[in-house]
Amino acid sequence: MTREAILQSSAKEKEEDRALRPQRMSEMVGQQDVYERLMIAVDAARKRNESLGHILFDGPPGLGKTTFALCIPRELGVSVQLASGPGLKAPKDLVPYLTNAVDRSVLFIDEIHRIPRAVEEYLYTAMEDFRIDLVLGEGINARTHNLWLKPFTLIGATTRAGMLSGPLRDRFPIREHLSFYSVEELTEIVQRNARKLEVKIEAKAAREIAARSRSTPRIANNQLRWVRDYADSRADGEITLAVARAALEMAGVDDLGLGRQDRSYLATIVRVFGGGPAGLDAIAHTMNLEPDTLEDEVEPFLLRTELVVRTPRGRVVTAKTYQHLNIQPGQGAAGELQRKLF
Ligand code: ADP
Repeated sequence: MTREAILQSSAKEKEEDRALRPQRMSEMVGQQDVYERLMIAVDAARKRNESLGHILFDGPPGLGKTTFALCIPRELGVSVQLASGPGLKAPKDLVPYLTNAVDRSVLFIDEIHRIPRAVEEYLYTAMEDFRIDLVLGEGINARTHNLWLKPFTLIGATTRAGMLSGPLRDRFPIREHLSFYSVEELTEIVQRNARKLEVKIEAKAAREIAARSRSTPRIANNQLRWVRDYADSRADGEITLAVARAALEMAGVDDLGLGRQDRSYLATIVRVFGGGPAGLDAIAHTMNLEPDTLEDEVEPFLLRTELVVRTPRGRVVTAKTYQHLNIQPGQGAAGELQRKLF
């Protein structure tokens, strides 16, 4: 594929992503308790004509933090500004967002755990008193001005609530943890989105995609899109159970929903570290990946499904891993393992 075609397809994917993302809170599937608490807070703020309290969402990637954050301003009927933690390197990067915030509007900061301490501290008075200190001029002419902001709502999203300092966390009166989705909930999401994409899908096929989606809506959506492409190219466009299975198999997604990267992680512990214990950094180096990527994107599901356990001395694979990979403990070093897994 040419570079242009890749770019076009990624732009198309982004557009489809937007099309699949629920626009209103009532379109969100699951997370019922979070939904209800947020609706009460939104309703109360609307009735009192006040800005909504600051909200912190935490949880693994792809569970709906951004989606909730973008639905809230729509429910409130206010505007939203989007910022990302890694882009806010110094307080001056934050100033335009704060001064542009109109009354009761929302400022969404994704990956808020990645803002440096100085930016975090700058947020304290902005969040608490809607006030910031601006330094104007340089050297001996520098003057600090106190600037009042319009009351706004900060919504932060993080995959690492533990990396946020206590004082910042405490300034969010509403903190919500998003949890993983059931197969039923994901089946519902797959069926709704198949309708949005105007593709016919068998109920069993929707469930098969859901069951292999690692309890995560973003993965369910990505897999649905791939299965749809496969159905268009290799079948008559309808997603039957057989089509869904063949497509997912071709993408390297197994019946537990593990992808090549997950199996490679498990195989690395078995092959290189004799089943563990192995330290996160050592596994990451061997796989040529960032430890953060492993910890945020690979391990949560493997820990939850008990394929791996964390011990004080490192990660250890369980009997379930040997069973799932269909290998015997001690078989690690053989080239056989490589052949079986990939
Ligand atoms: P996060 O910000 O937690 O990484 P997102 O909010 O970007 O995750 O969600 C990823 C995708 O999953 C969204 O584009 C949306 O289509 C879908 N999604 C997430 N949560 C839900 C939900 N509760 N109901 C329906 N779709 C959802």
